Amino acid sequence: MQASEAYDRLAAHSRESALLGSALSLLYWDQRTMIPPAGQAGRAEQVAALTGVLHRRATDPRIGEWLGAVEAAPGAFDPDGPGMANIRGWRRDYDLSVKVPLKLATALALAGSEGQTAWEAARAADDFRAFAPHLSRLLDLSRQKAEALGYAAEPYDALLDLFEPGETAASLVPIFAQLRAATADIPALTAGRPEAGPDLPAGPYPPEDQAALDREVAVALGLPLSASRLDTSVHPFSTLIGPGDARVTVRHDPADFTKSLFSAIHETGHALYSLGHSGRHWGAPMGEAVSLGVHESQSRLWENFVARSEAFWEFFLPRAKARFPVLAGVGPKTVFRAVNRVRPGLIRVDADEVTYNLHVLLRFELELALFRDELQVPDLPEAWREKSRELLGVVPPSEATGVLQDVHWSGGAFGYFPTYTLGNVYAAMLFEAAGEALGDLAEMFRRGRFEPLLSWLRENVHRHGRAYPPRELIRRATGRELTAEPLLAHLRGKFGRG
Ligand code: ZN
Repeated sequence: MQASEAYDRLAAHSRESALLGSALSLLYWDQRTMIPPAGQAGRAEQVAALTGVLHRRATDPRIGEWLGAVEAAPGAFDPDGPGMANIRGWRRDYDLSVKVPLKLATALALAGSEGQTAWEAARAADDFRAFAPHLSRLLDLSRQKAEALGYAAEPYDALLDLFEPGETAASLVPIFAQLRAATADIPALTAGRPEAGPDLPAGPYPPEDQAALDREVAVALGLPLSASRLDTSVHPFSTLIGPGDARVTVRHDPADFTKSLFSAIHETGHALYSLGHSGRHWGAPMGEAVSLGVHESQSRLWENFVARSEAFWEFFLPRAKARFPVLAGVGPKTVFRAVNRVRPGLIRVDADEVTYNLHVLLRFELELALFRDELQVPDLPEAWREKSRELLGVVPPSEATGVLQDVHWSGGAFGYFPTYTLGNVYAAMLFEAAGEALGDLAEMFRRGRFEPLLSWLRENVHRHGRAYPPRELIRRATGRELTAEPLLAHLRGKFGRG
């Protein structure tokens, strides 16, 4: 077969899989927003059927033959062009799909869904021991998966690489060490700054007005209403259904409008990235997100670097006041302080910008110890308490607020947590580079001008899809090797004694 014909077949196969995947995404979205309770059982079957179809398509041996044909004619494709980037992406996806035996993939999917159900019950009952056998099983199956995939130095690397291509435990250690050394003293340094100050009024913030404000901010940041929806769900999330169809969900707290607003901004950042890479190349690797860390960098950048700035509130507070008269006497500095409090706490998802990465470090060190057999599942709750004391200075009084607080491990997602911190590190590097290229960003935010920043991100990050591994993408965008220094500079500037 000619290389060009093989390429066309790969592209057609990939696009059709993407269309089916898009239908699956819509089923998931519906399952978390609209479905009536009695529809869940049928939906689970529907999801399983479509997942099976997609798995068979991903492991279709013809993909191997087509790839063989295009790779046998390397001169036919520009090594730096989108065609070659797609070929690299298809090769990676195919190899990963065929390396894991179907039996193991099915066992993992089943253990993951049982694990999540068990975790929900264990968390509600504050009973780690009820969840422990599920966690042991998931660890065992995940180790088998790592062996099947192969790894650089240790099994954990194989799982991490699925979420963040190219990263290894060893490559993350220096980044976390840098963060830990520099943030350990920030909570103490910030005593009296900028978190000191009155709380915001406790409402009322009617949910329908919050929804309108969430929409207003998403549009101001650049999310087109013609290509998106904002709805409510128990856990906020963002998903791309297809090109021109990004869905964002939030949850409203009647006593605090900032919670849903920051969720909306966070998820809008994800949606802007999805829409930014899914245009012309949708259905091929060039039209896909490169990693979870890069995805998270886009949400954190808008949430923390843009919307938690004082300049943003100078622009946005009058808009919030127009909907919530209770804010009448509040100034931008008060909101800035209220949304930037530093308080070491128990719960990762409630953590401030400074301590957040310490929560991630805790999980990274524990899951790594589990995979290295340096820690056994029954000892995990005690190890969690110890690490929490050491890193955050707080000890969870229950397992629900400690080791059982996150869903990730219950579904078998090991190696996922570090991508949150990588997202923060990338976001800071990108924000710094955008500022150098565009000039005074704060002045733009004060005037409600977010378009230059979005354009810069589209040009330097979004449009590249999966063309480069994350580290290379960030290096090309910023001109620097991966470093936590810009993140630390940002945190010191905002929270340190300065
Ligand atoms: Zn996110």
